[in-house]
Amino acid sequence: MLRCVSIHFNSRNVTKVIPLFDARAGAPLPRPPAAYAAPTGTLTDTHGRSLRDLRISVTDRCNFRCVYCMPKEVFDNNYQFLPHRDLLTFEEITRVARIAKDHGVEKIRLTGGEPLLRKNIERLIAMLATLDLDLTLTTNGSALAQKARMLRDAGLTRVTVSLDSLDDATFRAMNDVDYPVQKVLDAIDAAAAAGFDPIKINAVVKRGTNDHDIVAMARHFKGTGRILRFIEFMDVGASNGWRMDDVIPSAEVVARISAVFPLEAIDPNYPGEVAERWRYVDGSGEIGVISSVTQAFCSTCTRARLSTEGKLYTCLFATEGHDLRNLLRTGADDAAIAAAMAGIWSQRSDRYSEIRTAETAGLKKIEMSYIGG
Ligand code: SAM
Ligand code: SF4
Ligand code: SF4
Repeated sequence: MLRCVSIHFNSRNVTKVIPLFDARAGAPLPRPPAAYAAPTGTLTDTHGRSLRDLRISVTDRCNFRCVYCMPKEVFDNNYQFLPHRDLLTFEEITRVARIAKDHGVEKIRLTGGEPLLRKNIERLIAMLATLDLDLTLTTNGSALAQKARMLRDAGLTRVTVSLDSLDDATFRAMNDVDYPVQKVLDAIDAAAAAGFDPIKINAVVKRGTNDHDIVAMARHFKGTGRILRFIEFMDVGASNGWRMDDVIPSAEVVARISAVFPLEAIDPNYPGEVAERWRYVDGSGEIGVISSVTQAFCSTCTRARLSTEGKLYTCLFATEGHDLRNLLRTGADDAAIAAAMAGIWSQRSDRYSEIRTAETAGLKKIEMSYIGG
């Protein structure tokens, strides 16, 4: 039986291994823990990891209230979202992105909250497109149908759409604003018509909520060229009531699909790819699984995150960020901002998913809607 464990380290050695739960499913087995990578760029953190990806949150607001991300009880009418003056401007975001590129960043993902709610987002995309990087965006799809063409024309390279179920009642319950599934499916078609290819579909799987729909989702997207990726429900933030029992391990997702549509593992597209890739043996495409909980990939994590109001975070599960906005708004030159970024990254030691326990899950971590996916 597959066992999921939390591995604890001191600075040099593994000190203990705590079984966290039994996966209740058969094979496939998890990947062995990866060794920390040798430095590949000039700027590296304390584990030798380069800075390659920058995720930029452009708003902390969202029109959905996904139960695993922005539960209604917390994100209600009294919730204090950031005032507009606190948001980084498009010019400030582009400046940080340009300096990050000089440090080795190759890929930018715009996220949120719901990034398509940020007014004139296509203007930001056009500005970032001048940096000639891989430029992607993750969206809930609600505004994608009307904006897809504009985003493409502005220079967006790729798009990922979040969709947790094909079952309308389940989807409406998960987004918790009664948003119908068909509208997201239409938005995916509109994005394809605008020229986005391939389109990735992200589905967060929560036990007892949408796991009954895993195989139906695989069936729906199989053979379409759209890449469905199942994400383990994570303990991001401090408000989604996360419990290990609600996590469906990726191994179980793969086993359930493989029992109907046989799958085989394939190599990552590039070192450090977050999703583990599986292809249908009959040649009709592939799926991905993102196993942040059961198979930590911190050893190859090259991601930094820029919050909506300009704090740089070096881990999705961080409790504190590093303020860059003050530098941006007090006349610091590019060299000073580059030096600040280098200082932050070179001191980075994060590897939360490798040290996750029931206790760490309860920490006051930043919310996913604030920092983005
Ligand atoms: N609003 C956009 C969307 O939903 O695509 C972008 C922001 S959202 C925070 C980015 C991604 O994070 C989405 O694919 C969402 O499903 C995922 N996500 C949010 N909360 C999560 C959680 N607790 N565990 C795993 N993934 C989560
Ligand atoms: Fe909004 Fe995305 Fe969070 Fe859902 S996952 S509440 S769509 S930010
Ligand atoms: Fe990267 Fe932190 Fe996630 Fe590990 S837990 S993969 S360091 S963001």
